Amino acid sequence: MPRLNAHPSGRHFLQIPGPTNVPDRILRAMDNATIDHRGPEFQALAKKVLADIRKVFRTTQPVVIYPSSGTGAWEAALVNTLSPGDRVLMVETGHFATLWNRLATRVGLQTTLIPGDWRHGVDPATIEAALRADKALTIKAVCVVHSETSTGVVSNIPAVRKAIDAAGHPALLLVDAVSSLGSLEYRHDAWGVDVTVTGSQKSLMLPPGLGFNAIGPRALEAAKTSKTPKSYWAWDEMLAANANGWFPSTPATGLLYGLSEACDMLLEEGLDAVAARHHRFGEATRRAIAAWGLELLAANPAEQGDILSAIVMPAGHDADAFRKVVLENFNMSLGQGLSKVAGKVFRIGHLGDFNDLSLMGTLCGVEMGLGLAGVPHRAGGAQAAMEYLKTAIAPGLKAAAE
Ligand SMILES: *Cc1c(COP(=O)(O)O)cnc(C)c1O
Repeated sequence: MPRLNAHPSGRHFLQIPGPTNVPDRILRAMDNATIDHRGPEFQALAKKVLADIRKVFRTTQPVVIYPSSGTGAWEAALVNTLSPGDRVLMVETGHFATLWNRLATRVGLQTTLIPGDWRHGVDPATIEAALRADKALTIKAVCVVHSETSTGVVSNIPAVRKAIDAAGHPALLLVDAVSSLGSLEYRHDAWGVDVTVTGSQKSLMLPPGLGFNAIGPRALEAAKTSKTPKSYWAWDEMLAANANGWFPSTPATGLLYGLSEACDMLLEEGLDAVAARHHRFGEATRRAIAAWGLELLAANPAEQGDILSAIVMPAGHDADAFRKVVLENFNMSLGQGLSKVAGKVFRIGHLGDFNDLSLMGTLCGVEMGLGLAGVPHRAGGAQAAMEYLKTAIAPGLKAAAE
């Protein structure tokens, strides 16, 4: 296989916001012979992961797992709950919201995409107004992206739920938590989400290949009358088989071993501690960016996500040329700007299998790359991040002085 560097020593820094670095524990857990997916060993594994993953979604409701990317899980959420011609309200927070909207139209739904500037999250007031105006209750679902991975903007899901309730509207709430589930705070049950969609390769620290739907009671009820043709994605067969630890078709056995380990890791650390750890990374990165004199794409400080940072390139400088310099010199992949912001932003992923020194390596690579690529900036971003990290004590640790 051709490589940029024939003998790269040390690990590649995969600092795109997903797929993310897979920790050694998960790599080792997946290093298993494939087992009979109709045998007792598989059944025990399936029962364990189907129970554990609910804890990660913070739900007591069923979670189904497909061998698929996140896109498949998007489709599953729509085709199980809705019928052709149903109206769906979506919000253009960025690239992923736009793609989900396109998928919805392709499966026969009538969508309204509330326009956005790719720098802000979902405005709950706009949702409430649209639902209040829908006197005939023709809108059947509101679909929003929790962490918009193309922009780094995080939307307030409880506020969206409140807006739907305030309008007294029965629309379902479907949420894309593809990048955020397993890093940012996320509560499927407490936030009143009807379907949560995620994938394996971002905060869950697994390779790509698993798609998930967490299914609330109202979504299960809606599935009974949904008329959208479906077969592979149908929840009913999956749920019936899962009840006894089986899958209707061949599951991704190797990835499920990895998922079992990922759940163990997240639950051992504790979901609150995981979120606090990511907050440190987010805050340290924001301080570095401010010190460099660069600008975040996420315009509202309250919506700046802790798992990735999308940075606006100074005018006249190409983000992809900069990314190439970083890859070739430091063996680090940074995220590209997607569609509308291609070449205009680059993204730093700081999520998943990540600690203070992985962050510092990443920020040093960015700072050196800015210099080599001739991108105007001030020095001292990495230094500012270090100052923050050494004073803001890591969760679970005590200051040496105490
Ligand atoms: C990555 C991502 C997706 C798409 O998932 P695929 O696995 O690439 O199909 C959807 N939504 C968000 C927010 C994502 O980050």
